[in-house]
Amino acid sequence: MSTPGHSPLIAPAEHAPLADQRIVVIGGGMTGHRFAARLRAQDPEGRWTLTVIGEEPEQPYDRVHLSNWFASRNADLLSLDVSVWEDPRISLLTGDKAETIDRVAAHVTTTSGTTVPYDRLILATGSWAWAPRAEGRELPGIFSYRTVGDVKQIAEWVALREKTLGRQVRGVVVGGGVLGLEAGAALQDLGAASTVVEFADRVMAVQLDQGGGEMLRLLIQDKGIDVRTGVGASRFQPAGDGQVGTAVLSDDSTLDADIVIFSTGIRPRDRLAREAGLAIGERGGVVVGDSCQTSDPAIWAIGECASFQESCAGLIAPGNDMADVVVDRFLGGTRTHQRTDDGTKLKGVGVDAAAFGDVNAVTPGPSRSPSSTR
Ligand SMILES: Cc1cc2nc3c(=O)[nH]c(=O)nc-3n(C[C@H](O)[C@H](O)[C@H](O)COP(=O)(O)OP(=O)(O)OC[C@H]3O[C@@H](n4cnc5c(N)ncnc54)[C@H](O)[C@@H]3O)c2cc1C
Repeated sequence: MSTPGHSPLIAPAEHAPLADQRIVVIGGGMTGHRFAARLRAQDPEGRWTLTVIGEEPEQPYDRVHLSNWFASRNADLLSLDVSVWEDPRISLLTGDKAETIDRVAAHVTTTSGTTVPYDRLILATGSWAWAPRAEGRELPGIFSYRTVGDVKQIAEWVALREKTLGRQVRGVVVGGGVLGLEAGAALQDLGAASTVVEFADRVMAVQLDQGGGEMLRLLIQDKGIDVRTGVGASRFQPAGDGQVGTAVLSDDSTLDADIVIFSTGIRPRDRLAREAGLAIGERGGVVVGDSCQTSDPAIWAIGECASFQESCAGLIAPGNDMADVVVDRFLGGTRTHQRTDDGTKLKGVGVDAAAFGDVNAVTPGPSRSPSSTR
């Protein structure tokens, strides 16, 4: 991954400049930014225009380090290289959402009513934070953990509840994966008591085996974050003032919960592509081949919204590679996207934990690779 906040250090590619192309990217997130930065760096002489349509009000930012927002309370400090937007060939629309893709007319229409024509369209719409259905799920005080908007609301809610209740806020995170543990630490940093609830029998169940998961649970508990494994949150009950107050767990025990954060997985944001009739993977996501082209030769998909070999990435490295592949292809190259396992590292919790390879040996014939917890 390139250093956050900076464009990839790359020399212009050797090729004829791309000419007379109207390129549109839907999604002003991490891979949308990567694509813009890469195209600009690799094709400084090209006569193309690029419009990036971003639904979030902020300029593209470093989502990987979202939790850093709590320290600065300044979203600008998370911004990815803003010099990209100074290029006169590139326009960034923020706070506007692509609503439809008309593949016959070759244009995108946004919520504000803007019509943006394209010769080549790139979908970089990322994922949405999925949460299971549960009674009381809509109560005020229940959040996701994906955007700057989410972390702002979480910080405001903790401060407000602390003031209203006149005591320490009690927070519950549903989901003990990497992001759930990070959210649990964020709650603790905000001064709340923090409990992470995980339905599986261990935390980071995708990345760690039983022994590693148990060791990590103990280390996290040492940091003052309570961790309950083997139980899910089945429903939520309001406090006397109508805000969320209690989480009822699958073993019928209860937890005080003045705030709840769901971190129970992500799903690719593929609605636009579905409605436009593009091929969609069995488990969701816009189907792409190793050139990242979709079933429509004028449309590409990169990042978490793209389904490559039946799976959608949940990490930034493959998304960046996909952006680079599309730029290379636009400039006449033949690069292909390959999925590699870059491992997973826990961050923000104060415990160094990393996992590499197929830790749970679920693929046929793998060698067992180590997970490490310290
Ligand atoms: C808290 C947190 C920590 C993470 N930590 C790590 C980590 O340590 N390592 C790692 O590799 N990955 C990490 N990730 C994952 C990483 O952030 C993602 O893999 C990466 O952001 C994916 O890039 P993307 O461009 O596909 O999606 P995103 O960055 O989510 O960008 C998609 C953008 O498209 C916008 N959008 C969607 N639909 C539309 C529409 N119709 N019109 C306009 N805009 C639209 C969305 O609002 C969003 O801004 C983390 C994620 C989170 C939330």
